[in-house]
Amino acid sequence: MPGKVVIIHPQEPTLAVRLYLPLLQGMALTLRKFLANVFTPSVRPTIEYPEQRREYSDRYRGRHILKSREDGSLKCVACYMCATACPADCINIVAGEHPNLAYEKYPTVFEIDLLRCVMCGFCVDACPKDAIWMTKDYEMSYFSRKDAIYGIPELTEKPSDTGVGGPGYGYRPYYGASPAKKAGQFEPSGLSLLPMTLARNAAINRVPPPPPKPPAPAPAKPAV
Ligand code: SF4
Ligand code: SF4
Repeated sequence: MPGKVVIIHPQEPTLAVRLYLPLLQGMALTLRKFLANVFTPSVRPTIEYPEQRREYSDRYRGRHILKSREDGSLKCVACYMCATACPADCINIVAGEHPNLAYEKYPTVFEIDLLRCVMCGFCVDACPKDAIWMTKDYEMSYFSRKDAIYGIPELTEKPSDTGVGGPGYGYRPYYGASPAKKAGQFEPSGLSLLPMTLARNAAINRVPPPPPKPPAPAPAKPAV
């Protein structure tokens, strides 16, 4: 059986289309947006970077820093937890024996390949020593792959990280829990962190919360 032939007649352009009015409407819209952007910068969605910069959240995941103890040594005990948790496999640690027996181990090599890093913050979450934080530094550019591998000298926290004009702290554990950390000040590790550590572990079910206490038995009524 032969197929049915369907003849489609193209629509005749309207007078407005023939006069290019929709095109002029589009150009008028573009011109209106252009003039609004030029003469009312406050409504402009873009900024004049690098003269202007956005203020990012204190949980921003930017370049990492390694935190130090009061004596200046790195808090890191080279436990490899961050390297194990890292989904991009971009942390390289070599452990050494620390001369102070209380610390046991320390990293002789601690490198992060920032070109492989996906800025997920898992390393910060995994660290049991509060030794690795992130900053709000998003200006990372390199001329070679080698430059993108940050070692201990580049990663160790410096005053310029949190000073005036510095990027400031970004993603870190216990954010908001401590007034000192909230103010962006240095806070050494110590027992002051223990209650927060326990609370966090309970919150993420690493340590099950203690079972609720059974209700006290009601006192027996005296015999009448
Ligand atoms: S932020 Fe994520 S990808 Fe980057 S080093 Fe840490 S765990 Fe690895
Ligand atoms: S998890 Fe923390 S203490 Fe362990 S190696 Fe990484 S930065 Fe160091």
